Amino acid sequence: MRENLKVRFAPSPTGYLHVGGARTALFNWLYCRKNNGVFLLRIEDTDLQRSTPEMSKVILDAMKWLGLNWDEGPFYQTDRIDIYRDHVEKLIEQGRAYRCFCTGEELDKARAAAEARGEKSWKYDRRCLNLSQEEQERRLKEGHPYAIRCLVPTGKVTYEDLVHGKMEIQNEAIEDFVLFKSDGSPTYHLSVVIDDHLMGITTILRGDDHISNTPKQILLYNAFGWTPPNFGHLPLILGPDHQKLSKRHGVTSVLNYKSLGYLPLALLNFFARLSWNPGDDKPFYSVEELVSRFNLKKISKNNPVFDTKKLDFINSKIISSMEEGELLVCLRELAEEVGGGDCLKSPEAQERIKPAIELLKSRMRNLKEFLDLLDAYVTDRPLEYDAEGARTHFTPSGASLLKAYLEDLKGLGPEEFTATETERLLRSRAEAEGVGAGVMIHAVRLALTGKTVSPGLFDVIVFLGRERAMARIERALLWIHETTGALPGGC
Ligand code: GLU
Repeated sequence: MRENLKVRFAPSPTGYLHVGGARTALFNWLYCRKNNGVFLLRIEDTDLQRSTPEMSKVILDAMKWLGLNWDEGPFYQTDRIDIYRDHVEKLIEQGRAYRCFCTGEELDKARAAAEARGEKSWKYDRRCLNLSQEEQERRLKEGHPYAIRCLVPTGKVTYEDLVHGKMEIQNEAIEDFVLFKSDGSPTYHLSVVIDDHLMGITTILRGDDHISNTPKQILLYNAFGWTPPNFGHLPLILGPDHQKLSKRHGVTSVLNYKSLGYLPLALLNFFARLSWNPGDDKPFYSVEELVSRFNLKKISKNNPVFDTKKLDFINSKIISSMEEGELLVCLRELAEEVGGGDCLKSPEAQERIKPAIELLKSRMRNLKEFLDLLDAYVTDRPLEYDAEGARTHFTPSGASLLKAYLEDLKGLGPEEFTATETERLLRSRAEAEGVGAGVMIHAVRLALTGKTVSPGLFDVIVFLGRERAMARIERALLWIHETTGALPGGC
């Protein structure tokens, strides 16, 4: 364990913070917090065409929402262009980099010619390496644009990957890669190496998609005469079809999960499990537990599969473990952001909100679902019946059953209006009518909640109370009559 551990998260603001990026950020953060290190945030925004300040902000917001706090930064690479230029000039002076005046067209032509000769992979043929000093000066004077390339030495790059173990790459396979583009902007390789060195980064954890970049970057560290940091590459996340994870798999940005009603702790647990098993006996861990359990050596080399069912499971477990008051705060915040949950503002509903949260919380996969459902439990607004459910259960015979049950309930005094009694009545009514209890339960549930699923029906009845429950059944009967013309037997 290095005492001066310093890690970084270095997103490019060319898109939202997605699952892969969030996992990278989390693993760096856990590793850092576990080892009392420093966590630095750097925005790699040198790709001017694709980076936007809005995206930088969205990434920072997502980090904050997840609770992945940073100790230094955010630093923006666009503020540091002069630093990169000064450094690359030094490499030219030392003969470790050189100017390349080749145009894109010339390079394309050379590549095509190599392909025509049957060469499998073309790499830059160093035609500008040996340009005389005079020739270079002439072209510079004439204003020819040029890129700056790293002169890759012979030999090989070896390093010990923190996840994959020993890595070895022959330099022969690496072309003289570009450090500064002809448009005057530094490449990712150059800026990342200079920044990681100058910012004192000791360990870099990032996705496997960077594995091919690492040898080049180590060559650059060597060219500058710097000691490379430790590298660890996290296995690529796959979709359920075992293809590279993409939007196609319904994966969305981290902040979108927020609008869908997922809790940050659920996402942290979910992301942590993409490549690491924090333990096996609990559906989720607190942030402190995740930190104390984190072990880089336990990261799996296998590609994790992204499965939203797992996320739903973790989220639902967290929701059901939360206090009603705490959930109410979260629901209010969500309502503020995405709308809905009108009942939260309605004065007459206030005293029923917390009991309703208590009743419902063990069944909710996310807060959005919660918000959508709450109104039906705490206000007396007419329900909107689930269409499919209404087709199945609000039939003439369903109406008869509802009517009969309503009469049964009327016979119960306020004292007797318990889960046990209301259930006993329903079951004996079902028997008397010659139908399964389930058939009645479905119809009554739809009448009371508007939905086809709910917490235990008799708990719902008791929660609503005698008057409300009966009023809802009456309203359902009226609705059935108005909508289908069905008159329950006896009306
Ligand atoms: N900016 C790079 C990216 O977003 C990451 C750089 C790195 O981790 O080395 O992919």
